[in-house]
Amino acid sequence: MGSHVLLLSSPGMGHLIPILELGHRLITLHSLRVTVLVVASDPSTVQSHLHDQPANVRNLLEVIFLPPVDISPHAGPSTAVFSAVILMMLHSMPLVRSFINEMRSPRPSALIVDLFGTGAFNVAEEFGMLKYVFDTSNVWFLALMVYHQHRPVSVENRHVVDHEPLDIPGCPSVVYDDTMEVYMRPENRVLHEDYAETGRDLAKADRILINSWEELEPETLKALRDPKLLGRFSSPSIYPIGPIVRSVKPIGGSSLDRGENILSWLDQQPHESVLYVSFGSGRTLCIEQMTKLAWGLEMSHQRFVWVVRPPTVHEKWGSLFKLEKNGRTHFDDGTPEYLPEGFATRTKEHGLVVPMWAPQTQILAHRATGGFLSHCGWNPTLESIVNGVPMICWPLYAEQKMNATMLSEHLGMAVRSKEAGPESVLPRNVIEAMVREVMGRDRAEGKRLRSTVREIQRMSNAALDEGGSSYDALSKVVKQCKIRVKEAEERAHG
Ligand code: UDP
Repeated sequence: MGSHVLLLSSPGMGHLIPILELGHRLITLHSLRVTVLVVASDPSTVQSHLHDQPANVRNLLEVIFLPPVDISPHAGPSTAVFSAVILMMLHSMPLVRSFINEMRSPRPSALIVDLFGTGAFNVAEEFGMLKYVFDTSNVWFLALMVYHQHRPVSVENRHVVDHEPLDIPGCPSVVYDDTMEVYMRPENRVLHEDYAETGRDLAKADRILINSWEELEPETLKALRDPKLLGRFSSPSIYPIGPIVRSVKPIGGSSLDRGENILSWLDQQPHESVLYVSFGSGRTLCIEQMTKLAWGLEMSHQRFVWVVRPPTVHEKWGSLFKLEKNGRTHFDDGTPEYLPEGFATRTKEHGLVVPMWAPQTQILAHRATGGFLSHCGWNPTLESIVNGVPMICWPLYAEQKMNATMLSEHLGMAVRSKEAGPESVLPRNVIEAMVREVMGRDRAEGKRLRSTVREIQRMSNAALDEGGSSYDALSKVVKQCKIRVKEAEERAHG
């Protein structure tokens, strides 16, 4: 009987893509059978992006979409995004349970969930499955999650009230400007409890897998494993198995035309001359920020590919809205109404504006790409690292401000203006200066960033190679799954 594992993904491409990629790796490197259960707010959007997956991946993975659940009776405008995702997962649990119940024998030996899916551990226990978390972010953020429920009141008050750095034992401190929503909204007790509950669930996992690698965050990992530091609170072993990112394969399906246009445009550009600009799949900028960014890009005279999503209003839930001045969405030259008039004409020789979605991993892997202006989500960060591309940080939400500090201050592979954040409207000349700093090939800073990120890229390759730390860690997890299957077989045969 072969080993079969079940992966459960919470809503959002930032969770689904690394989960799918982990599934791909378990199949191709370790010959497991893999089923992925997807909780999605909008299956049709996710489905269309899934076509970007190479055919061999699509054929190997069984991907099942659970029917959408309605959380509106339990959530309101003040519900934090973290809590909304937890709610969606909790309300999907009966579906997860009945799906597993109806699976023909042999059932999967292990359930792997992302950080939001730990509510499924009860179900896994019921069916005798191993319980793993795959944290799709980094170890520093995991340390914060683990510490959250144990932090003394005095530590919390110094951070929340006095805005002093949050000291996490044995780890880099989190300065208040980088802090998470949970500490900015102390009145939101539901959010606090959701963090605490997730921390408690983490302690119940058989293993915590994480999308980082030993050599990237050695000190923080040491603290999490040290029984005198965070090891007191995190009983399961932590297995860094990353960087797990989408492999670069020829694209197919729905985005073929759009993707081919971008890639053939990149083919015409000089080596490492293009800045890729994208704020990811989760949120977008407001109109004032977009206007300044457009001016900053234009003034820098650097080549760029900019993935543009319509601006948001400044509220937390910021639903996308359409600007339809005078009933139209574009100026005559094709410039979207929310960018400065004439932008498309003035930048047509050296810039490409791409609506909504682009084949990101192919762009970052292209020889013409020389920099990445990003919101610093952990997925795009890893995609930049594995392609050796230096970054400009403009963090927006979740742990992205911590990531930006890690990239610019701890690792030295990115530039960041301290003012660049979710609410700030950066002056155009600050944007221009950052772009020039990274893309200016003859400038010392650009060279230094590029050589630093190349070094980190080499380190990440070594971790993934056979015998490397991440390869070995995943092999150990697979071995545990196979032992579980053998034990079940032995029990079945008396
Ligand atoms: N992505 C993409 N094209 C886009 C935006 C995102 O291919 O235009 C992919 C990206 O490569 C990543 C995933 O979607 O693998 C999630 O991206 P996001 O930036 O939202 O990640 P997060 O911030 O959640 O880490």
